[in-house]
Amino acid sequence: MKQKIFFKTFGCRTNIYDSQVMMSAIEKYDIIENESEADVVVINSCTVTNGADTHVRSYISHIEKIADAKVFLTGCGAHTKGERLLEQGRVSGVFGQSEKLRIDEMLSKDEPFYELGDLNYIDEAVVDDFVGKSRAFIKIQEGCDFRCSYCIIPYVRGDARSMDEIKILEQITRLARNGFGEFILTGTNVGSYGQKTDTSIASLMKKISQIRGVRRIRLGSVEPIQITDEFKEILREPWLEKHLHIALQHTSPQMLKFMNRRNVYKQDKELFELLASEGFAIGTDFITGHPGESTKLWNEAIKNMKELPLTHLHAFSYSKRDGTPSCTMKPEVNGKLAKERLHELENIVKVKNFEFRKAFSGSLDILVESQKDDLYIGYDQHFNKILIKSNEDLLGNWVNIQNYEAKEESNYGSI
Ligand code: SF4
Repeated sequence: MKQKIFFKTFGCRTNIYDSQVMMSAIEKYDIIENESEADVVVINSCTVTNGADTHVRSYISHIEKIADAKVFLTGCGAHTKGERLLEQGRVSGVFGQSEKLRIDEMLSKDEPFYELGDLNYIDEAVVDDFVGKSRAFIKIQEGCDFRCSYCIIPYVRGDARSMDEIKILEQITRLARNGFGEFILTGTNVGSYGQKTDTSIASLMKKISQIRGVRRIRLGSVEPIQITDEFKEILREPWLEKHLHIALQHTSPQMLKFMNRRNVYKQDKELFELLASEGFAIGTDFITGHPGESTKLWNEAIKNMKELPLTHLHAFSYSKRDGTPSCTMKPEVNGKLAKERLHELENIVKVKNFEFRKAFSGSLDILVESQKDDLYIGYDQHFNKILIKSNEDLLGNWVNIQNYEAKEESNYGSI
């Protein structure tokens, strides 16, 4: 009788992809949905903030309480917290992302082990399915060559490198054949795809769009400097989502210097205005409360933020990360104040998102992903959520809605 295994995934879309690869590769275990019945639990961890580490530790405590299971750690936390957790006997083994295709062999080891493998490996895996998902995350790139002063990721994901283009296209061809129509290209610094292999993300997306069954391509977070002239040529392509997530991290020129960011606010503003004029919804990342964020620099940042045509925001208040240049920087910003600034930002973008949805008069092209009570939930081409009333089963379907109501919290439609 096969042992039962449960996969717990923390963090980003790249981790979601890596977990899918492990779930597809495993043969000696039965994958279950209920962690309390598991004989083995694999934690695909995140370590982007000290808080992320705390979540992983408290999850291990949770498993220790509810299940009689062996726990194994992989993901980015394996590189920062793995050794300590192994020494404490809280996990039975630690393995790096490069070892995930050897998962059966890893989990059947009798002795505790610590095998981080190769930080700069190139992923060769190809999956046929995305369990429980109606859209597919495709890892096309891994690692990062930027050195933002608050970020630990380059040290746990390695240098920027691109997956083999043939493998990526094969991957998408297989998933499209299995009914997937929407593909989210993901990576650690996805916009750097192709930089060392003499190609580019725009060229790859054009090739992907030629694959039978590909209906919409979405992109993970890119850097402003990666929206090149070549990329601008595909902005009007029908297969490209009408939303882009472009990481600014701050809108005060001085703060961008403190954070060792490569983007320049003046150019960011010009780029966002160009994209908005092309009808794009635009999201960004922002960190409030990074050391050095004085009231003067904050007021400047807010003034700039208000003038940007934003619709989506992925923001955090700064969280010290041991081992990064920022963790020793001064003056520090009070945590409560950093949270207040975060909420101020969120409110600004919430209003902008509602304005954008009210102003849009075209039809919405929606992939229905889930259902809650009697409403179906999907995302449109602008990556805005819509709740749909219908007597038909819409799960996994593409629907086009012209008449819908834009309310503050979401759009509402019926079919
Ligand atoms: S671009 Fe900066 S924030 Fe993003 S992964 Fe690289 S170093 Fe970290």
